Amino acid sequence: MNAPPKTPNASGWKPGTPVEGHNAMSGPDTATGNRALMLEEPLLFEIGHVEQTGVDLPEPPKDSGRGANRLGGFDRAEAIGLPGLSEPETVRHYTRLSRQNYAIDLGLFPLGSCTMKHNPRLNEKVARMPGFADVHPLQPVDTVRGALEVINELAFWLIELTGMYGVAMSPKAGAHGELCGILCIRAALEARGDAREVILVPESAHGTNPATAAFAGYRVEDIPATAEGRVDLEALKARLGPDVAGVMITNPNTCGLFERDMKAISDAVHAAGGFVYCDGANFNAIVGKVRPGDLGVDAMHINLHKTFSTPHGGGGPGSGPVVLSEALAPFGPLPFTARTKDGIVHLVEEENAAEFDHTQAFGRMTAFHGQMGMFTRALTYILSHGADGLKQVAEDAVLNANYILRSLEDVLDAPFGPSGPCMHEALFSDKGFAEGLSTLDLAKGLIDEGYHPMTMYFPLVVHGAMLVEPTETESKAALDQFIGALRSVAERAVNGDETLKTAPHYAPRRRLDETLAARKPVLAWQEPNPPSGSPSLSEQGGR
Ligand SMILES: *Cc1c(COP(=O)(O)O)cnc(C)c1O
Repeated sequence: MNAPPKTPNASGWKPGTPVEGHNAMSGPDTATGNRALMLEEPLLFEIGHVEQTGVDLPEPPKDSGRGANRLGGFDRAEAIGLPGLSEPETVRHYTRLSRQNYAIDLGLFPLGSCTMKHNPRLNEKVARMPGFADVHPLQPVDTVRGALEVINELAFWLIELTGMYGVAMSPKAGAHGELCGILCIRAALEARGDAREVILVPESAHGTNPATAAFAGYRVEDIPATAEGRVDLEALKARLGPDVAGVMITNPNTCGLFERDMKAISDAVHAAGGFVYCDGANFNAIVGKVRPGDLGVDAMHINLHKTFSTPHGGGGPGSGPVVLSEALAPFGPLPFTARTKDGIVHLVEEENAAEFDHTQAFGRMTAFHGQMGMFTRALTYILSHGADGLKQVAEDAVLNANYILRSLEDVLDAPFGPSGPCMHEALFSDKGFAEGLSTLDLAKGLIDEGYHPMTMYFPLVVHGAMLVEPTETESKAALDQFIGALRSVAERAVNGDETLKTAPHYAPRRRLDETLAARKPVLAWQEPNPPSGSPSLSEQGGR
């Protein structure tokens, strides 16, 4: 393996030292606050005016002839004080803000556990075809046969790829899928009159796992890990008993390791009368290689927005179908699709569930059928890759992560490096950083180098954790550039470079009090000093 370049740029510029003229963010203040073509952007409330508007609508007629106007008495009593903007002002506002954001379409996004991979443009082209994009969930079933065909076809491939028995397509993200899977487990236990209280979850699990189990009414107990970062099978076996409803295991786990004992774990849990939930967020690393059904899994969510490339982030739509074993499938939620012998795909709802022999559904997860746009994108991704392509997705994702792990473990501590190759993500710790410098400082330094930080302080089992997931969609050149940047920031952290403490130096905003922002968010705009004389937004009813 060739050593990656030690410095990412050839200009001789030393990271952390602003050089005049080298970077648009360094140098003297500007009169406008703008930095070259990066423009400062105030809030909408600071740009807009109540008297201004981007639209030109006629006043609604005051009287419809029945003594009331057409709004039925619901017309506005006073101005609500929203800022009005012209169309170009509005477009510029959001475009300027978007330039301050980071996206997978701008560069490598190393968030571990989140699988930020490129969303192929073919996915978008297909998802935007009017027959898929313009359907409405309340349309008569006969008018949406094509959409049902897509849902059913994707369901088929998810079952095929995971070696499972059935699938609930409607959950809207991974965490929602977890809840769906655990509710299936609860329904199956209740159906056999077996009330159990405990779900076992490894300490390294994603926070959604214990949250889901608790939300579904279970008590959560930790499963200890071995020194090499995997589930401790003997400790797990010792804890199993008639009170344990099931386990939630992430495989590959959040330390980036494959749980080699998965089949033995499932066998032990089943022998004790429990069920096995697998957190499938990391399916990306094993798709086309391993079928969770063969490992004894009873339920697993698949984050379409991770493994199958559909976009995510910013609260945008995810999609978390849950594949189910034969034991759990009868309890899966409505609605779902089913093809009858005549080749027609039906939508199975409360009113026709008995016809399809599905009378034990625990209920439903959503009002409608799930995230149609994500289904179309995921199916496009699956079909365009084919069986060989999906296998290569897993192989390349794992190869890329191992390249990062081995290229950086001389400068960054890799706690499970000695455990062998990692799966699709590389885990590092802050061990070896100079006194006073932390994972947070390194992450902020990485922003100055043009990269979104990796996942920080997760999993919790590793001190100052840094979880890096390059995904299969990055080239070796892109990986080398990232490795060079991370190496230089890591060296600064190890050597005690104090300038890291105030990084990022070049971002439009520097260090924010993120804890305060999360605990005491200011969600309503407050006018600082209303200009005297003119009607202020607050006088117009604004907040
Ligand atoms: C992302 C993730 C989840 C939650 O999935 P969402 O789609 O974000 O709800 C759960 N577990 C793991 C390991 C994850 O990485």
